This record gives sequence, structure tokens and C-alpha cells, in this order.
Amino acid sequence: MANPPDREEHHVPGDGQVRDHELGSTAADTRPTSLVRPSHTLHKVTSRVGEEQGAEGRTAETALPGLLPIMGASVLVGTLAGFLELALVLGQYHGLHQVRWSTLMMNRHASWMIPVAETLLVCGWSLLLFVPARLLASRFCKSVESREKAARFLHDWAGLVLGTFLLFGPLLTISGLHALAALVLALGLGFRLRTLLVRPTRLWRRNMQWGGALALAFLLAYSLVQENRVNAAPSAAWSRPETPAGGGEAPASRPNLLWIVMDTVRADHLSLYGYSRPTTPNLEALAGSGITFDQARSSAPWTLPAHMTMFTGLWPYQHGARVDRPYHGQSPMLAEHLRANGYTTGGIVANVRVCNANYGFGRGFDSYLDYPRNQVINLNETLCNSTLGEWTMNLLRRAKLPVPGPSPYFVHRSATEITADARSWLDQVQSRNANAEASSTRPYFLFLNFMDAHGPYIPAPNRPRKFWHGPTPSQAEASPVEGWTAVESRNNATPDQLPARQQKLDEVTQRLTDLYDECLYGLDAELGRFLDELRSAGLLDNTWIVLTSDHGEHFGEHGHFGHGSTLYNESTHVPLMIIPPSSGKASRVSQGKRIDAPVAHRDLPRTMSELLLPGVPSPFPGRSLARHWQSSTPQAPDPILAQLEKQPLDGKEVQTDLMMSADSLIDADHVLIETSNAPTELYQLFNDPKQARNLATETGEIKALRARMEKGMRTILADPNAASRSKAR
Ligand SMILES: [Zn+2]
Repeated sequence: MANPPDREEHHVPGDGQVRDHELGSTAADTRPTSLVRPSHTLHKVTSRVGEEQGAEGRTAETALPGLLPIMGASVLVGTLAGFLELALVLGQYHGLHQVRWSTLMMNRHASWMIPVAETLLVCGWSLLLFVPARLLASRFCKSVESREKAARFLHDWAGLVLGTFLLFGPLLTISGLHALAALVLALGLGFRLRTLLVRPTRLWRRNMQWGGALALAFLLAYSLVQENRVNAAPSAAWSRPETPAGGGEAPASRPNLLWIVMDTVRADHLSLYGYSRPTTPNLEALAGSGITFDQARSSAPWTLPAHMTMFTGLWPYQHGARVDRPYHGQSPMLAEHLRANGYTTGGIVANVRVCNANYGFGRGFDSYLDYPRNQVINLNETLCNSTLGEWTMNLLRRAKLPVPGPSPYFVHRSATEITADARSWLDQVQSRNANAEASSTRPYFLFLNFMDAHGPYIPAPNRPRKFWHGPTPSQAEASPVEGWTAVESRNNATPDQLPARQQKLDEVTQRLTDLYDECLYGLDAELGRFLDELRSAGLLDNTWIVLTSDHGEHFGEHGHFGHGSTLYNESTHVPLMIIPPSSGKASRVSQGKRIDAPVAHRDLPRTMSELLLPGVPSPFPGRSLARHWQSSTPQAPDPILAQLEKQPLDGKEVQTDLMMSADSLIDADHVLIETSNAPTELYQLFNDPKQARNLATETGEIKALRARMEKGMRTILADPNAASRSKAR
């Protein structure tokens, strides 16, 4: 019988018995030693003596691989796989600028959670796949020949398992590679690697045990350092130099900035803007203390590009952030600029999936809270941060085993949760400032995103109802999808069916509108309460407030519901208020001012950085909006771009056939809309708010105006500093 290659065969001198394994004996191996004959009587030693250690290596045995060295090898392989996976995750995110759903769910502690999870999982899978085979071999392979075969098989098997798991987790992270393809690939490579990873030698056994212990110690130390680093981030503000680079005033005397975004709030549904229902009494009261812009425009009809423009001053095609790609980060964001100038910065968002730190929104924030779970440290969170963990949990769930459910993607944090977190953050800032030397106090920048008006429109519980008097609706009843279904049904109706289907559509539209208005009313009430509370606590002293929305919402206008599908006014006309600190000069000149010139979100970072940091050059494009209230004469507006881009995530289109590409330009009093799959539209800005009369085909003066606007749009879109647009489309 031929000796297997690579087998260490050794005889323990003196006892005439073969030791099954040197250090890795398991309790499972209970065979009586009398069954084992000295192996040198059966085999000639043909092993690679050079690899073995001393005289022991020159004799034969039928050693089954032990549990301890296999576990040591599993720790080593798991640690290696974990860092490989981490490198691939970071490489795809930072190097290739790719975002997947899993990227958004990534914990702030992912840098250590991924290697830890991989190590735990590889050890778990190895135990599960190796131990039963090892037990069976011990139990049934009694003869030396069968033991030898079993030993050879077990070494190969353990090598295959480890080789597969060395690569399976990392391969699972590769965007576009199906899990089954990753498994087949990992199995193939694992098969090739098996003899390298598990060797039937004493040297290997000893190395694995030591190597495993060292890898564990390294992983532990690395995890502690990383955990400490992440946890220390919110305190960083107080350890920054007291006088920031770039000159200007000392941070302590600078005003705070509270930036509130009410997600999905269209301007014309607020009584602040003359809506027939009194949806926003608190905002109306607030308007008396500052400036209200009547024609503010978002740069995009959905959350991600709209917020990104608001904080970078870049048009959507310039910042490039889209559903599968984070902000490229080549220009500073407002939080980065303010932090560099002595501010402590915090962000708390209700729209956790889209205002996610991993799209770039966390840049410049000392503390950024999106998915609350993304800050949490526990076993489930650790495992789920590795793709192998996610895959394993899904497998266990399919097998109906009791494992925690997956993290929900569509989380709406309520206004009361956001205000409670905000209050707690502001209290910390206040207390740090109270205990700091005067020269090292810090002004704050706090960004809050509220999602109460976003579909499904479910009014907050325990609030008095104003516009919706029915029972609390289900998610389906309160979703814009209801509207789309009713539109489709009406559009496909025969003449006989039409009246009933039109009536159904009208009913759905009214129900969704009532619910939406109720949500606006509830949000206004909570904002009013919150701002009063901050005022009484002295947290709004010397504070600018910016209050706006990222985009609007359709309720059947132009045949649309929800948002993200058009550039009409319903999508892009948003509320905007800028409230100066109550004690300053700005307050005296701006109280109760209304500005009717069209203005863009794009100018907000420029505006606020100049107001907060006079004397510090602003790195943001555009022009400050302050000219509109500081000057006694009306100021000419700048052209306003809005963009909609069709885009995929994880290979699928979002809202298939709802999303198309479109660009819109607003000049002094007209709106031009160019859509990829429809004729050009041109509307009057002030006289046709419902955009009912398309002027695009008119001749004469209008034709010349259209040509001018089209040229203006081309000029903005041809910005040589912009990120590649063709790549994005
Ligand atoms: Zn939004």
C-alpha cells in the first residue's frame, strides 16, 4: 500500500503504541489503544522526512486530525478571511464608489466586527462540518487500513472546508456575484488549497495551535483599539485646536446652526404658503422671526441627491451621489467646513436608509446617527456585518431555526425619537461647554432630518387629529402605491368602467391627501414643541435655524403619486426659512421677511458658511442668499437646475419605469423641463403653479426664451469641474 504523500508518520519510542494525535486529542476519540498496531510494521516510511521533526517523524501512524489544531487553523483562516472581506468591502466602497443595501446597514464598528464575525463563523462552520466526520471515523474505522484512509480523508475534508471558507465570505461581498457562484468558486479554490491548509504533520499541528492563539490575541487587541477609536470620535470636537486654521473669530463667539429638513414636504401644502388647511401654525409663527422664501427649489425630487446638494452646493451631476454610489467627496461638505472652523457637529436622521452616513452624509460630523442599530455592539450586529454572517443567518432562518430577524431596510424614525435624540445631543454639548474653559467652548451645527410626512402617511399616535378622522391606516392604505394602482386602473378602464374607476381614484387621492396633511400637522406640532423646549433651555441662544424640505410629493397631479419621478413643482417646490439669532442685527432686518425670487438649495452652504464664519473664505459654489434680505432692492435670481436620474441598485432599477432622466432649469419667471422620454415642457413660474399650460411649442418671444433657457441649461451642465455625467447616466 502506498504511503500518502505529505503524511507524517511517527512512532512514539518506548510504548509500542501510536499516538493518535499529539496535542489535539478530542474526547471523541475513545478507541482502545490495543486496537492499534505499531504502524511501522505496516508501512515503510516514505514521507518527506525533511519536514518532520527528529526521530518521531520517521515512523508511521494513522493519526486522525485533532480538534485543537483544526480550531487553530480555523481561527487563522477566519481572521485572514475577515481582513480579506474587510479589504474588499472598503475597496468597493472607497475605490470603486459602490453602495449596496448591505453597505448602508454597515455598523460604525464594521472595521473590527467583520474580522471577528468571519473568525467566529469559520470556527463555527468548521466545527459543524468537521466534528461529525471525525466522530464517525473514530467510531467506525477500527482497522489500521481504514483508519489511514479515514485520516487521509479527514485531512482533505478539513482542508477543503477551511479553503472554502477562506474565500467564500470575501467572494460574497463582490457586487454582482451570485451567492451560488461564490460558493462554487470558493469550493473549487478550496479544493486546490486543501493540502496547503491542513497537513498531516506534527509541525503543522503545533504551528496551528500557536498560530491560532496568536491570531486570537491579535484580533482581540485590534478590535479593542478600533472600538476605542470609533467611540472616541464624538469627543473629538473638544480636543481640536482652539483657534482654527483660516483665522476669523474664536469658535466660542460664533453662532450655532440648527438645520432642519422635513423630508417630503411640498411647499403648497403648508399654510405657511397659503394652503387652505391650517397645516403649519407653528411654522407660521416661526416665520415672524426670520426670512421665508416663497419660491425655494430643490435640486432633485428625491432624498439623496437633494440632501447632497444642500450640503455641498454642487448640482446632482456634480456631486454624483446616487442610489448605488456615495458622494465622491472631492469638495467639502458644510459639516466638514464648520468642523474645521471649531464647530462640534451632529447629525440625526429619520430617513436612515437614504440619509445614511455611507452615502457620504456622515462626512464632517463628530456624531452621526442613522440606523440606531449601526452604533450598537452585540453578537447579532457583529455577525450580520459580515456577508458570510448574513448568508449564514439567512440559511438558518430558512431552516426555521430561532435566529434574530434581518434588520429592516425601511425604517422611519418618528419625529419624537429624533427630537429626543437631538435634545440629548444638545444637552451634552451644553454641558461640555459649561465645563470647558471659555477659550475651548464650541458652537454647534446640528442637522436633523424628519420623515413623518414621507409615505406611508401614518399620523403619529396620541396626537389630536385635524384632517384625518378615520382609524389609523395600514401601511398599504397609506402608501403612494395605492395612488399608482388607482391611476393604472383608471387608465386601463373601458368607457363603461371609467366613472367607477375615476371615482375610486378620487377617493384614494382624497384619503392620501388627508393623511399627508395630518402628518404635516403632527410634524409641525412636534417641531413647535421642540423649538419651544430648546428656547427655554437656552439652547437656541445665538443660533441660526435653517428649515426646509428635500423635495415634495405628488397626489395625482400630472398622473403621479409619491416622488422621484418628475421635476414638476409638486416635486421640487419646497419650503425654506432662515431664522437668525434673536439678539443679532440680522434679526432686526429680517423679521417676517418674505422673498419671492426663486432660490436654490444649492446656495445654502455658501449662505450659511458666510453668515456663520465672516472673514473665513467659503469653499462652496453659488452666491449667498443673504443679499435678498440685506439689500433694500430686489435681487436678480440665479438660474436653478434640478435633475432626475434613472439609476439601479444591486443590479435592479429602483421603481422600474417610474424613473427616467430629466433636467429642469428655472430662470426669473419660467421653468424648462427636458425629459428623456417625453417632449420638452416650458411653464410660467408665478402664473402657472400647477404647470397646466405647456408653452414649449409656442412661437415668437417664447420660442426665443426657450432657446435662451436651453442654452443656459447646456452651460450649467457643461461645467468643466463636474464629475463625469455620462458615467452616471
Ligand atoms: Zn426625501
